[in-house]
Amino acid sequence: MILLKRLLTCFTLILILTCAATGNAFAKSTELTQINAFDVDKETVRIEISYNGAPLDLGDITTDIKNGVLNVAIKNAMPGRVNRLSGIRIQAGAQDLVEKIFAGKEKNYGTSIQIYLYSTFNGGLKVSLEPADSSEKKSDRIVLDMKMNPAQDDWATLNGDFHGDGKIIVLDPGHGGSDTGAVGPTGVTEKAVSLAVSLKAQKLLNAAGYNVIMTRTTDIDVAAPGVPDATELQARVDKSPPNTDIFISVHCNAFSNTHAHGVETYHAPGAVKGARLARLLNEELLRLGGLENRGTKPARFYVMTHSKCPASLIELGFITNPREEKLLASEDYQQKLAQAITNAVNRYFNQGGSD
Ligand SMILES: [Zn+2]
Repeated sequence: MILLKRLLTCFTLILILTCAATGNAFAKSTELTQINAFDVDKETVRIEISYNGAPLDLGDITTDIKNGVLNVAIKNAMPGRVNRLSGIRIQAGAQDLVEKIFAGKEKNYGTSIQIYLYSTFNGGLKVSLEPADSSEKKSDRIVLDMKMNPAQDDWATLNGDFHGDGKIIVLDPGHGGSDTGAVGPTGVTEKAVSLAVSLKAQKLLNAAGYNVIMTRTTDIDVAAPGVPDATELQARVDKSPPNTDIFISVHCNAFSNTHAHGVETYHAPGAVKGARLARLLNEELLRLGGLENRGTKPARFYVMTHSKCPASLIELGFITNPREEKLLASEDYQQKLAQAITNAVNRYFNQGGSD
């Protein structure tokens, strides 16, 4: 027994000496402890990956983005407490951009992290390392900043192979010119809301690599003032080139009862692809929260039955409902609607292909 103890002591001593000799590679293996996504400002989302153990250097970290997933590979660090979905937090301010984060062990000695992005992120990425800061109770961190419209060019561009791939999207802002569409209790017009939202969606979709064609970009009748409805609507359909991938017509709902409210999306009867597009648009618009789901329905609206590609007409909300009129008129909500449309288009082309 005494001999065994002595042997153990000796062995322990050797172990300590060995550790000291080989530096901290063995004594302080690096383990990730937490991943936290939050917003730094209106344009920047930060993902902090905290770790314990031997410090990492930038050469240990590689990133690439594909189909809306930012992949981060970290050499010389194990997932530790951050594995699969545990130890990962996406704060409210980051949730417009980051859908979910998944971490797992990589072959050899490393961790791979997948950051699923909702939106078409056309900004820059910056990777840096931050040392532990005891006053802020923070350990060593890898910091990934994702910034929209970065001013300096020391940001890596992230929009390379993202989503769009030149697919042709026709956006049709409902009404315009002599036709105001529905008018809200305080005078907000459907034609103004549909145009504002469509122009914002055009920007986002363009940035994501889509080729966007607008049926109108200003307050005009597309055919001419005073022509029959079918002539005006056919002029809109005619804006689509033969190889158009999808057609989306943007409208606001209206009803004599000002209590009527909610989101509704439509597709032509029997149109399988159109129905899928309408369903995805409905889901994304509802993700904004607060609006009732009036469903995805078949209907014989002219622009859907006459388009040669999958088409959907969406009702963003009821302009005749005072609460929804206010929302629809707000720049902030319009931007969210545009993002929702963009997200739906991305999902349409990236989940199950564009068949
Ligand atoms: Zn309308």
